[in-house]
Amino acid sequence: MPKMRLFDTMSREVRELTPLDGRVFRFYCCGPTVYGPAHIGNFRTFVLQDVFRRTLELSGMPTFHVRNLTDVDDKTIRDSQAGGRTLKEFTDFWRDRFQEDCAKLNLLTPHIEPSAVEHIPHQVEMIRDLMEKGHAYASDDGSVYFKVSSFESYGRLSRLDQRELREGASGSVSDDEYEKDSVCDFALWKARRDEDGDNYWDSPWGQGRPGWHLECSAMCREYLGDTFDLHSGGVDLVFPHHENEIAQSEACTGHRMAGHWFHLTHLLVDGGKMSKSAGNFYTLSQLIEAGFSPAELRYALISANYRQPLNFVAKDTAGSETFPALLAARQALQRLAKFSQSLVDASGLTEPLTYDDALAVTGQGSFGGAFEALLNDLNTPDALGRVFSAMKAVQVEALSADVAAQELKGFHLIMEALGLVLPATGGPVAEAPGALVQLAADRWAAKQAKNWAESDRLRDEISAAGWEIKDTKEGYELCPKS
Ligand code: AMP
Ligand code: ZN
Repeated sequence: MPKMRLFDTMSREVRELTPLDGRVFRFYCCGPTVYGPAHIGNFRTFVLQDVFRRTLELSGMPTFHVRNLTDVDDKTIRDSQAGGRTLKEFTDFWRDRFQEDCAKLNLLTPHIEPSAVEHIPHQVEMIRDLMEKGHAYASDDGSVYFKVSSFESYGRLSRLDQRELREGASGSVSDDEYEKDSVCDFALWKARRDEDGDNYWDSPWGQGRPGWHLECSAMCREYLGDTFDLHSGGVDLVFPHHENEIAQSEACTGHRMAGHWFHLTHLLVDGGKMSKSAGNFYTLSQLIEAGFSPAELRYALISANYRQPLNFVAKDTAGSETFPALLAARQALQRLAKFSQSLVDASGLTEPLTYDDALAVTGQGSFGGAFEALLNDLNTPDALGRVFSAMKAVQVEALSADVAAQELKGFHLIMEALGLVLPATGGPVAEAPGALVQLAADRWAAKQAKNWAESDRLRDEISAAGWEIKDTKEGYELCPKS
């Protein structure tokens, strides 16, 4: 099987992935900050990291996947106190919610999911080491800073030069960090402040808490050693988070931190940045409540290349929140499910296939091209396109049971690589999302009131979202357009 190739932010090249130890590919993903529900942008990153892991494993490369939980930072401390809960109660609650969402979205569980709070001694140890080596200094208030000028290659990942650093980085500096020697030095340890409440720990420099960047460096080192194969996160983490992680880790260990840097471009909603104030901030639970399945969201999230922004279309052309992106995903999944069922029928293999079955598949038949698209820089839209082309080319009715079984296994392998759980076929008609159900009810009311113009307008709006209304003797039915 050819090896997987992936774009590396550090070298700006697509490079082959080979594990340093020759056996297991060991990688770290920056995990969620557990202070609220993860949004669908976060899940674009986590879902694509999951497709990445599945592709490696299904290509025959075992993995070791570490993804942390950021449970101590400004936001978790601020919001736990605002809600009158201990930091642990608060972050445990949001951790559980996150893990439930991950399970619904069919994400493989990381081999280790460490929490920052549980690794404070490791962080203190690293700070001590950095101070001894002259890379860090304590300020009078008991905070400790990393001395950026002591680490020559600072800025290599994000291609910052020293000039940009001096003039441009001040935006990321918080007011309480005024005792730094240089505006670009960043906190490794933050001295205790009144607003931290009970959330402080002892250290040789006084009470306080670790800096966010250091948490990841310490957890990487604990579970993956000084050098590991790949480090990943959303593109917003390139600077300063990953740049600072590299500086801390490499200054401390004297070794290169990671062999490969994998960054995922952000998700936009209706062409804009997602934010609560813009009213375009979506979580998985909200979409489930609106009548969609996690598999539909997963499909929409993998439908664009990870190196391009993904514009998640929530509103249709009439401006109603009907989620055309998810309706399109629903139709695609139904086509995949029907095709899968036709292969099951032709092959006589009725036992459901599992992830382990996919790991054991040797030949991928007509679906080999789709898997190659994933091996080639995780090109998920190309893989999906090739799946649909192969489906058209395969004449299921003409296949012998043996060949149908082979094709089914190849098809199953690519579905597992993408992590798509297909809906049952032949079941009840797809459920319409809540917004459309409302539009259909409004249209019925308009019709009863003989307001024909309004009734036609609503019918058109429903049609633009991919659904149609069929009037019956008893009332009406709302069905996906065939
Ligand atoms: P956070 O919980 O903010 O620490 O973010 C968790 C992960 O989601 C990180 O890898 C972020 O880079 C990533 N992320 C944040 N916003 C988006 C977005 N709009 N699209 C894709 N990934 C995102
Ligand atoms: Zn991190």
